[in-house]
Amino acid sequence: MSINENIKCTVSNCTYWDNKYCTASAIEVNVDGGGAQASNEEKTNCHTFESRS
Ligand code: SF4
Repeated sequence: MSINENIKCTVSNCTYWDNKYCTASAIEVNVDGGGAQASNEEKTNCHTFESRS
């Protein structure tokens, strides 16, 4: 998998993470707790995340 320089990420324990960037071909991001309006940037999360085993 190659990095996508358009998707910077800090989740270093994700399978798709490589040196501050994401290597997934696409990602899905949702609001923490559901709904469609995040109150701030900390209330969003990536549902493409897969924990490194
Ligand atoms: S899938 Fe999501 S959490 Fe994982 S590296 Fe990509 S952007 Fe980060």
